[in-house]
Amino acid sequence: MLYGSIEAGGTKFVCAVGNEALEIVERVSFPTTVPEETMALVIEFFNKHKEELVAIGVGSFGPIDIHQDSETYGYITSTPKLAWQNYDFVGTLKESFNIPVAWTTDVNAAAYGEYVFGNGKGLSSVVYYTIGTGVGGGALQEGRFIEGFSHPEMGHMLVVPHPDDTFEGSCPFHGNCLEGMAAGPAVEKRNGRKGQDIPEDDPFWEIEAYYIAQCAYNTTLMLSPDVIIFGGGVMKQRHMVEKVHQAFAKLLNGYVRTPDLDKYIVTPALEDNAGTLGCLALARNAELHGH
Ligand code: ADP
Ligand code: ZN
Repeated sequence: MLYGSIEAGGTKFVCAVGNEALEIVERVSFPTTVPEETMALVIEFFNKHKEELVAIGVGSFGPIDIHQDSETYGYITSTPKLAWQNYDFVGTLKESFNIPVAWTTDVNAAAYGEYVFGNGKGLSSVVYYTIGTGVGGGALQEGRFIEGFSHPEMGHMLVVPHPDDTFEGSCPFHGNCLEGMAAGPAVEKRNGRKGQDIPEDDPFWEIEAYYIAQCAYNTTLMLSPDVIIFGGGVMKQRHMVEKVHQAFAKLLNGYVRTPDLDKYIVTPALEDNAGTLGCLALARNAELHGH
């Protein structure tokens, strides 16, 4: 018996199969091009395992339609990636695999992975952000994703510009929202080089930490979660989490008592596996509930 995982990212797809213990058995990756091409590779990969495959969990870039009773449930909807606009992702999978498919956002899947196996294990309220090509956020309460008319888009929360920051922001919708100020491309645009090439002692990182700390501050006051996990490429700067702790403590100014910052604002325990493990766990749930 195998579970399938599809992490559908804006730059690459990662597909995997896992066993009953949710251990990853095989994993492959393809560039995200056009649906006809990328999905053909996805289907080819799972076809190899078709006999044993019992359910698939998908964590997708979005926005996506998550409403079970909607006509476009399972679609990627208004994404800036034109070829994927109004694309029937779940429907396409179901044409090839007549098994339960769990469908959620990429960040929800990563949040779920951390909830089941990582830094959210045993906690009831878990928030996960990725600070990468974009900024995305997902929140879980007692094992369920927080959502309403749609899934949250916490990466686009407004932030207050740092006094030393003259960057106008790079979000095409909002300019200086969190994503527009702090995602990888904003880091690169402001500094003329990629985040991975900016040394640890560059004063820019204090500015970056200020935005991520505002995100933690807003999250704390709105949700009072048990843990806030920051993943994604930018958080590979290992010094960043400590800088975020300091900026966060200053912003919050003792207004509420949070858990110990070392346990409260953290990076993913599963590192780059959070999404895949989350999708496998969601596939297992889908199989149990027969969706
Ligand atoms: P994606 O968001 O596409 O899934 P990532 O989370 O890896 O992928 O994010 C990619 C972004 O993170 C790029 O803008 C890249 O420059 C930035 N990035 C990757 N590694 C680092 C690093 N070590 N330090 C700072 N920024 C990084
Ligand atoms: Zn925005």
